[in-house]
Amino acid sequence: FTNAEVYQQSFDPQEYLKEFYSVSDSQGERNPFLMQNLRTLFKMFSLDGLRGDTLLDIGCGPTIYQLLSACEHFQEIIASDYTDRNRQELEKWLKNEAGAFDWRPVVKYVCELEGDREKWAEKEEKLRKKVRQVLKCDVTKANPMDPVSLPPVDCIVSTLCLEAACKDLATFRSALRNIAALVKPGGHLVMVTVLQETYYAFNKQVFSCLHLERNMVEEAVESAGFDVKFSEVQPCLPGDDRADCQAVLSLVARR
Ligand code: SAH
Repeated sequence: FTNAEVYQQSFDPQEYLKEFYSVSDSQGERNPFLMQNLRTLFKMFSLDGLRGDTLLDIGCGPTIYQLLSACEHFQEIIASDYTDRNRQELEKWLKNEAGAFDWRPVVKYVCELEGDREKWAEKEEKLRKKVRQVLKCDVTKANPMDPVSLPPVDCIVSTLCLEAACKDLATFRSALRNIAALVKPGGHLVMVTVLQETYYAFNKQVFSCLHLERNMVEEAVESAGFDVKFSEVQPCLPGDDRADCQAVLSLVARR
């Protein structure tokens, strides 16, 4: 199991972005895993009721793709992750600093899904304005935002985090309860989770992943006090040696 301290020490945000969030690799191929997740996030954030004042992203890593459709429906966004370097990498993009990751191809793709590819610069600006805070979080703590105590939010989004952060099913279930306490009653949880994955690797380092089945995730979400409103499983393409993921579960639940 890769614990949070290992993330803090050795999770290299730039290598992670290069490996998993480039839209074209050396062979000029697209990134089907990312494209599929963008389409599903667009679909989920188009559902009725997925709107409000505040959205909290748990375990954001150095990425923003998960906020691109979300930012059209919430006024204010709080991003959070365990590691200093991930939060710094994200800040770099938010401040439009030199050396920040180039998300433009991804932003353009989402704008195309939303009906106007030409709006990409506007969307980048909107997102940069809406992310008000980038905070440290630890999903294994009763208050993951400790020492900050946040007023309850309208929605939480969390992509590919809990299966990396939790060593076993009991920890996964308690992390969901910790997260649930941060959402207003009637608020939503939007989650993207890989299924039946035991590891992912980049930059010659291997990170563990909690092996999950669809029903385990749905039951954990329900027992944390949510009603599952939307749940969809899509297969991962085989033949990828960077991870052994079999499928991706996307779900929306209401507290
Ligand atoms: N959401 C991003 C990053 C996923 S990688 C994406 O969709 O690509 C997994 C993330 O979980 C890393 O950013 C890591 O720092 C974070 N993480 C690991 N342990 C954690 C913990 N205990 N609490 C919160 N985040 C944690």
